Amino acid sequence: MLFRPAFVAPTRGRFAPTPSGYLHLGNAVNFVLTWLLVRRTGGTLHLRIDDLDRARLRPAYLANIFHTLDWLGLDYDTGPRDPADFEQHYSQRHYLASYQNLLEQLRHQPGLVYACTCSRTDVLALAPDGRYPGTCRHRGLSLDTPGAAWRVHVPDEAVVSFTDGWQGQVMVALGQALGDFVIRKKDGAPAYQIGSVVDDLRLGTTLIVRGADLLPSTAAQLWLAQHLPATAAFNATRIQFLHHALLPGPDGQKLSKSQQQPLERGVLAQAAGPQVVYQAVAQLLGLPLEASSSLGALQQSWLQKSAPAAP
Ligand SMILES: [Zn+2]
Repeated sequence: MLFRPAFVAPTRGRFAPTPSGYLHLGNAVNFVLTWLLVRRTGGTLHLRIDDLDRARLRPAYLANIFHTLDWLGLDYDTGPRDPADFEQHYSQRHYLASYQNLLEQLRHQPGLVYACTCSRTDVLALAPDGRYPGTCRHRGLSLDTPGAAWRVHVPDEAVVSFTDGWQGQVMVALGQALGDFVIRKKDGAPAYQIGSVVDDLRLGTTLIVRGADLLPSTAAQLWLAQHLPATAAFNATRIQFLHHALLPGPDGQKLSKSQQQPLERGVLAQAAGPQVVYQAVAQLLGLPLEASSSLGALQQSWLQKSAPAAP
């Protein structure tokens, strides 16, 4: 791991769950890793809950985020203390104007944004992998077409490269990996990438820890942010990205996010308690199994392993 603790001081990290399902083992592992990294630098940690997709939000999922953090024993410094506090003060609904402002600026960038009226079925019929084939790119539809989504034109050859704290130098062929992605949904709501970039800039985030399956998403955000002075600070010089390996499955295969622990109650249903999560983190960090008896033991073991060598 190339994590540079003194990279930007003080480190400002965040947990960024979405209340659209119960949190699974992969989410919990991500939380623990983020907590270990931020706490080691004496930085601050924010709980950011992404609820732009209000249609999928259920109160039980929102409550599950707080229960899972408690269960893991993880503290944080800023952000909502409970679901009521979240709804009242932190919901992304309170920041819609700032997301719309970014969308307005993007739409005036020459050749960047276009309207798309394709349905999901249309896209899947043309491209079984789900990558949008650019059908509406040259149709010249007005961005004010009712029910149209806004997509950005990502050139086929677009490549995003940066130094990642876990993977080292990475290169993402964005045009191939994601293609023309949506920045405003058909109902006019800002898409996830918009909310995420605006929120991380507002929060002053300097450390973003994600699973390796989200590398294309990070590349999309970095690429998009470079189009405007207002978002140029969202870059891999100011923000350290760390895309951790995914958990190996029982058969040694990497599990994708959607395959991990599809338990009805999520990771909280683990009868063995949070040690299951600490064990998975120890495995990812190459720590001995004894390190996973508690959060404190895990933290101790990792500090010892990663301490700078004495001069
Ligand atoms: Zn289209």
